[in-house]
Amino acid sequence: MLRPIVRHGAAVLHQPAQAVADFGDKTQALIDDMIQTMYAAPGVGLAAPQVGVGARVFVCDISVGRNSADLIVFINPEFVERDGMQLEEEGCLSIPGFNATVARPARAVLKGLDRHGEPQTLEATGLLARCFQHEMDHLDGTLFVDRLRGLQKDLIVRKIKKLAKAGKW
Ligand SMILES: [Zn+2]
Repeated sequence: MLRPIVRHGAAVLHQPAQAVADFGDKTQALIDDMIQTMYAAPGVGLAAPQVGVGARVFVCDISVGRNSADLIVFINPEFVERDGMQLEEEGCLSIPGFNATVARPARAVLKGLDRHGEPQTLEATGLLARCFQHEMDHLDGTLFVDRLRGLQKDLIVRKIKKLAKAGKW
């Protein structure tokens, strides 16, 4: 089932998400819906707060559904290692229409659980490393605009407020 994606300004996006302890039907349905919603958007990653659920779950697939082996589901993830630096343009399904260059570590290793509660550790570089860090930020209530410097952030936030006021957000 597709779930609506909430946008910048929704409280759930701006607060830390809670750890998942239950791997039953409700969590499985959430994960299936998140995968479907990510592909439909389309996007390379989606975190549970983006569908209004404050749980530490994210999905990503840098092939956007072209290669089923690329689909990753992470629950309660934590950084193990991060190093290097990459500067690339980034967007977010919760901030449609806006992009900005965000500095991120070039490599990231994450450990956590898969959708069945089994431990998993994954190493990522390039786009996948960027995706991991963007989604990890979502679980901590941080959006990519929060990582921009003053003026650039203010400009985007001001435009969003304008759109919201006009009922277009
Ligand atoms: Zn995002």
